[in-house]
Amino acid sequence: MRGRAARRVALCRAALRRAASCGLLLVVAACGRPLTPLAPAPLPAAAPSAPSPAGVNSRRVPTHAGPRSDGVSDDDLAALWARQLRVPVDGLRRDQVRDSYTARRDGGIHAALDLLAPRGTPVRAADDGTIGRLADGPVGGIAIYASDPEARFVYYYAHLDRLAVGVAVGRRIAKGDVIGYVGTTGNAPRDTPHLHFQVMKRAAGRAWWSGPPINPMTFFASDGADAPAPAPRIPRSVPDWSWP
Ligand SMILES: [Zn+2]
Repeated sequence: MRGRAARRVALCRAALRRAASCGLLLVVAACGRPLTPLAPAPLPAAAPSAPSPAGVNSRRVPTHAGPRSDGVSDDDLAALWARQLRVPVDGLRRDQVRDSYTARRDGGIHAALDLLAPRGTPVRAADDGTIGRLADGPVGGIAIYASDPEARFVYYYAHLDRLAVGVAVGRRIAKGDVIGYVGTTGNAPRDTPHLHFQVMKRAAGRAWWSGPPINPMTFFASDGADAPAPAPRIPRSVPDWSWP
């Protein structure tokens, strides 16, 4: 086990060196230990080309806020806008999201948004797609990597308190599905529960976490859901009644 741990540390250091050499140091759980399965699922094949977003949206493709990563094209941004992302935290409106994309973190930029919400707030999928990897590491804590339906983008949800029941690698998800709950796992401050939400362009042949990041700040098309519905009240005693 000790040899395996040493190898993992060496791999992590190598991955961090590669990330740093790309100019943007991604603050992601790249070294996270997958929950299930032990090996991350391979990325699905990329779509040959994204459909034009023309006619899909009621307004023009937003301008990217902050520096744009190498390898992210206008076409990529148009395709991301066509996905019509929703704010992935319940109760959070677009105008309440603060842009922490360029915040300085560990010698690089944050390259993600921190969406503050009370611990246990439902985290919902920002887009349709497939869950590709689950992680539980010292940086991102309990985290989910998911792709859009065409595997053009990777969405990273980190610091979760826990996963939603049924979340598993390979599971197809729909925009708005509850996939986890806001928490402080990993290196998040214990008194500041939040969702670390990152969007990356999928990098062919590379790991889930190594694609160039895109600031989703201006690409949300809908708010998070209103405050979650209260849990159904379960009567203490069930009257003389049976399931149909
Ligand atoms: Zn963050």
